[in-house]
Amino acid sequence: MPELPEVESLTHFLRERAVGRTVLGVDVVAIQALKTFDPPVTALGGLTITGVARHGKFLDLDCDGLHLVIHLARAGWLRWRDDLSGAKPVRPGKGPLAVRVRLAPDEEGLAPGFELTEAGTQKRLAAYVTKNPDEIPGVAALGPDPLDESFTVDALKGILGGSRTQIKGLLRDQKIIAGIGNAYSDEVLHAAKMSPFKIAATLTDAQIADLHEAIVTTLGEAVERAHGLAAKDLKAEKKSGLRVHNRAGQPCDVCGDTIREVSFADSSLQYCPTCQTGGKPLADRRLSRLLK
Ligand SMILES: [Zn+2]
Repeated sequence: MPELPEVESLTHFLRERAVGRTVLGVDVVAIQALKTFDPPVTALGGLTITGVARHGKFLDLDCDGLHLVIHLARAGWLRWRDDLSGAKPVRPGKGPLAVRVRLAPDEEGLAPGFELTEAGTQKRLAAYVTKNPDEIPGVAALGPDPLDESFTVDALKGILGGSRTQIKGLLRDQKIIAGIGNAYSDEVLHAAKMSPFKIAATLTDAQIADLHEAIVTTLGEAVERAHGLAAKDLKAEKKSGLRVHNRAGQPCDVCGDTIREVSFADSSLQYCPTCQTGGKPLADRRLSRLLK
């Protein structure tokens, strides 16, 4: 799933390639992906892309004041196409293509564009056409952006204070902090040497400072690594940069202990016992049931 660093990189990628270009048309192939009907998606035709921004994990293309806002969800991705002039018209079907944005041809006659695709059967990718991105409920509810200057240690302290939530769930909650998902919350907690099950309100000032440092550094480094990469190379880069997430059974590159996993109904978390939980494995109900 694309999280803050990947969406940030896609924002740069599109800014470089798409700003200044005119939208020829937007083809919505997966009807359920389009979450708004007024203004209609056809209103984007003929407008010029004037800016690209990110809100949490949302990608926002400003087209002369009308915005196409995209949330790639769990299995969505963006694919840049250098020339769509020969592309076949798309019909709604079972394929991964959800939305195609066609741009006007340049002086060489190439008509580039990009496609939003979504793998798997659960279709969650969302596209919105709006004059005001803040009217999208998911955007309006976003907590502070961890890459923003206002995200200080004190700001984090204010967010955590009094919360009886486990830190792993809190980090993933977009309403609390914007942009962190399942992968980077594992990475942040590993960097902070903190148990994913620790209750937010029990953190000491020193632990809050460590957690803040881990959030800013982990995301900052991931953004740095992803910067300048083509959209198609981002997935591999994300995977290779992860130290614990999806690496259960492999050695921790900090201490050499074996990375472990806790499974839930529809997700799992990974962590290093030596680095994060004083060497004690966390209870994994699914696993202990299997071992009986
Ligand atoms: Zn370790």
